[in-house]
Amino acid sequence: MAEFVVVANRLPVDLVTGEDGEQHWQAAPGGLVSALAPTLAARTGAWVGWPGVPDAAPEPFGDDTIGPDVTLHPVPLDADEIAAHYEGAANATLWPLYHDLIATPVYDRSWWSVHRTVNERFAAATADVADEGATVWVQDYQLQLVPRMLRERRPDLRIGFFLHIPFPPVELFQQLPWRSEVVDGLLGADLVGFHTPGGAANFRWLAQRLCGAEVDDGPIGLRTAGGEIRLGGRTTRVGAFPISIDSAAFARRGEDPSTADRARALRAELGDPATVLLGVDRLDYTKGIGVRLEAFSELLDTGRLDPATTVLVQVATPSRERVDAYRRTREEVERTVGRINGEHAGIGRPVVHYVHRSLPPDELAALYLAADVALVTPLRDGMNLVAKEYVATRPDDGGDLVLSEFTGAAEELTEARLVNPHDLDGVAAAIADAAAEVGSDASRRRMSALGAQVAEHDVARWAEAFLGALG
Ligand code: UDP
Repeated sequence: MAEFVVVANRLPVDLVTGEDGEQHWQAAPGGLVSALAPTLAARTGAWVGWPGVPDAAPEPFGDDTIGPDVTLHPVPLDADEIAAHYEGAANATLWPLYHDLIATPVYDRSWWSVHRTVNERFAAATADVADEGATVWVQDYQLQLVPRMLRERRPDLRIGFFLHIPFPPVELFQQLPWRSEVVDGLLGADLVGFHTPGGAANFRWLAQRLCGAEVDDGPIGLRTAGGEIRLGGRTTRVGAFPISIDSAAFARRGEDPSTADRARALRAELGDPATVLLGVDRLDYTKGIGVRLEAFSELLDTGRLDPATTVLVQVATPSRERVDAYRRTREEVERTVGRINGEHAGIGRPVVHYVHRSLPPDELAALYLAADVALVTPLRDGMNLVAKEYVATRPDDGGDLVLSEFTGAAEELTEARLVNPHDLDGVAAAIADAAAEVGSDASRRRMSALGAQVAEHDVARWAEAFLGALG
């Protein structure tokens, strides 16, 4: 039994096959794990999640990488459930709906029914491991029904929920056939956290309209709970808690001489160009990879950037490859990369270096250090951690950041070159200006301010603020 329980789609481990051919669990470090590890380790902690492979139903097991008293509780999913709940309801219904309909959401009743069953399974597993009066923190859009289901089983628990993606405008959310069920599901929590005050306000409005809740209409605070929603004799509070990164860890990597060596080597491998532009994203239609490629292409076409002295490195990690919209996005991106290289590359000297693989943290840090300008141009993004990682890695205040207004990060990183990703001229102008001003005092001043923001508001403070507000 545990005093603090994290509930997330995935367990923080991957099942890998070792050199001996045997399968074993390997820690899958990430921002969420490092943020929650201290709280998990300080009490008896548990993490409830899907192990990431079909039909895996191992017994709960300890995870010493987090702490001696931390137990992982696998929630099994079979292949049909993965298709309907994870690839379907989560990633083909909710994901596009919550990201401004960039792709068209599919509203499939059979997927939703499986989604509900899977949420029930998570709630039941959590109810089994939580101590009397325990604190439970449910994560993200795949598990929005869990707080209510858990509350019904275990009224004694303190339940928090955090949404890692944007919460959409109310007009869009209203499309969802199961809209009241989702809002009511979240109202099972004591505290519901969003990245931005706007998302929290949208949710509060819907709680009133769809569920008949009584709500406060005051402003919604940053890093604090407020905006009370009263329903059925209980109160749910909401707040904006913008997530962040382990800023000190990125800064340490940036200052490590081996990272600087690797960054120099990377620039040499790229042909020592005057200007290195960088994009790092999951290959997702929300990320606006096509936007920056088009802007780059226009700058080369019109001679504002010189293909002999400029390169764009685009890392696009494979993602959700079984979902149709992702396959189409990959085809479009790769066609555009091919076209730009066809028109502007020299023999043995591409202008776009496209990497469709996931890079390890050290290599990513070296790329961050090697890049003169990071291009972060999502059409919509809950936060965008890459933007924060890039500025945190630059000990020299070098580099520059072109950042979409439609990311959560833009609400904090206000010194970046903010762009509207739908305005191709604006994006192109920002890239051209950034390239022209590499190393200038003005860009150093802005990068210094950005670095200070990220250093101060790291992921540990995010977790402290949320858990402090949850009480
Ligand atoms: N990332 C990585 N290897 C890669 C590319 C990305 O480890 O090759 C990591 C990156 O460091 C960041 C995360 O993937 O922590 C992406 O987070 P972000 O918030 O930018 O986007 P998301 O994928 O969550 O939508």
